[in-house]
Amino acid sequence: MNQDLTGLVAIVTGGASGIGAAIAARLRAGGAAVAVFDLRPDTAPHADLALAVDVADDASVRAGVERVAAEFGRIDILVNNAGIGAQGTVETNTDDDWHRVLDVNVVSMARVSRAALPHLRRSPSASIVNTSSIAATAGLPQRALYSASKGAVAALTRAMAADHLREGIRVNAVNPGTADTPWVGRLLDSAPDPDAERAALEARQPHGRLVAAGEVADAVAYLTSPASGSTTGVALAVDGGMQELRLRPS
Ligand code: NAD
Repeated sequence: MNQDLTGLVAIVTGGASGIGAAIAARLRAGGAAVAVFDLRPDTAPHADLALAVDVADDASVRAGVERVAAEFGRIDILVNNAGIGAQGTVETNTDDDWHRVLDVNVVSMARVSRAALPHLRRSPSASIVNTSSIAATAGLPQRALYSASKGAVAALTRAMAADHLREGIRVNAVNPGTADTPWVGRLLDSAPDPDAERAALEARQPHGRLVAAGEVADAVAYLTSPASGSTTGVALAVDGGMQELRLRPS
């Protein structure tokens, strides 16, 4: 199976932390040069180039993409991974909450893709991977806005796959289950009993543990490599069986 990424250039948004940092490390280990776009590029642990790019800002995104193209001469892989959480119901989330979260979690993926597509089109091995979530398919309580944003990512991924199929650009998604990242660490820290909250999150995963960020990164590496050359428009679940086995949280 050819998972060699030697000579390819990748952009990973939200690549300074958690799942994005693991993706950047894995793509580099596979041979790619990796540019990270993040609000906190100085904290990126794995990057050939780390840029301060706000995916919610079109000018910032366009400048970042052109900088990568100028620096490396090509762009082959785009991983739209940056995202933010949102708790609450339709009664507690305001219109401002909706606009902000949908902008960062969904519109940003169109925005970064729009800037990168002219470069991706010139690559013989172009692909885009969007980070969705189990929230796209499971009915999670207190996650109305977040779930809607990730459901939109799933639909966007399929539509983009259709639009760019004949150009040789593959577009796929990964759907992580609850993953062991700084984001989840912050959620646990804010709980009254972090150990009990962690145990509850682990029990909610059908395989009884949190997903490792590296497991999501391995899935992204597969989806961006020649090994998945006939795969486009899929959402690959990395969730211990929650989505595909229709297992209910315990
Ligand atoms: P994280 O908070 O550890 O990392 C997210 C990174 O994105 C941070 O470095 C942050 O600075 C960056 N970021 C946020 N807003 C940005 C912006 N406007 N522009 C540029 N960078 C920005 O989070 P994580 O847990 O690694 O999550 C990464 C992705 O995975 C998100 O899309 C999230 O929705 C998704 N996801 C996470 C989980 C989980 O349980 N952790 C599960 C399913 C899906």
